[in-house]
Amino acid sequence: TAKEKNGSAFVYYDDDIRKKTLEDSSLEAEAESAIRNREFRLYMQPKVDIQNGNRICGAEVLVRWQNPRLGLIPPGRFIPLFEKSDLIIKLDRYMFEQACIWLKSYLNGGGRPVNIAVNVSKVGIFQPGFVEYYAAVKKKYGIPDHMLELEFTENILAVDTELFCDLVIKLRKEGFLCSLDDFGSGYSSLNLLKDLPVDALKLDIMFFRKSRDVRRERIVVSNFINMAKQLNITTIAEGVEEEDTVEFLQNADCDVIQGYIFAKPMPKEEFEAMLGRTDHLAINHNEQGY
Ligand code: C2E
Ligand code: MG
Ligand code: MG
Ligand code: MG
Repeated sequence: TAKEKNGSAFVYYDDDIRKKTLEDSSLEAEAESAIRNREFRLYMQPKVDIQNGNRICGAEVLVRWQNPRLGLIPPGRFIPLFEKSDLIIKLDRYMFEQACIWLKSYLNGGGRPVNIAVNVSKVGIFQPGFVEYYAAVKKKYGIPDHMLELEFTENILAVDTELFCDLVIKLRKEGFLCSLDDFGSGYSSLNLLKDLPVDALKLDIMFFRKSRDVRRERIVVSNFINMAKQLNITTIAEGVEEEDTVEFLQNADCDVIQGYIFAKPMPKEEFEAMLGRTDHLAINHNEQGY
């Protein structure tokens, strides 16, 4: 009967949650030693300056977990879990320091200056000593000013806008670039833009996912870009997968694209090899193959 079906569906659902909870608690238990064992890997996705011949201007560092039991785990699977405890703070600090180590050795090897962006969780930024820690690590590795960028997801604004702006001002005094990630994905209110002291806005991936009406999508996007431009804020379009979007963004005066249309995130060694090989990226016509 229908009732029985409902009953079994409920049991199935319940079982699913239990399985996920078990898996979550084992991931959590494994996390501390995973940092020590260097199981978290730095992937890097190139950022491309579309106003200057598609030059590689930098990369965003994205974490992957090489778990001995489960293989390569994407961040979507464990970041939300880590954000429930201070594991996320440890992971973010680890990723940031590893990024500095990479950048230092790359620059020492004669690499041209690139901009390296690291993500910071909304849990970490409001911890006391946050700015001091990041500034001290930057100094420890002798990274020049304006080469490291910190990305903060837009929902940080829902926590404490005033405090966030103060912290950004301090970070910029320490020579960091600061950007607002996932801009337009939900929490930001447009009026916040007038006081937001950030260097860059990253237009969320959702702007470039299938719209019912591409004409309307483009009107919205180009006006955001215009507004940012007049406020002296760099615009970065994230998640671009289509060639005609690149052309549109070039004409709309968007500064940078980070998307599969140019390159997917890759292990840091591969990114370094790419930089050694070329300064510019071409449109990737095989993007559907990913
Ligand atoms: P995010 O910071 O917004 O990073 C961009 C995400 O979009 C990345 O997913 C990237 O692989 C994906 N992406 C870029 N271009 C395209 C495209 O053209 N098509 C599609 N479909 N996707 C594209 P990823 O690597 O899975 O990371 C997901 C999120 O996990 C990140 O979103 C960020 O919020 C978080 N994350 C990653 N690494 C860290 C970290 O070290 N610390 C913290 N706190 N969060 C991190
Ligand atoms: Mg990001
Ligand atoms: Mg984003
Ligand atoms: Mg995102």
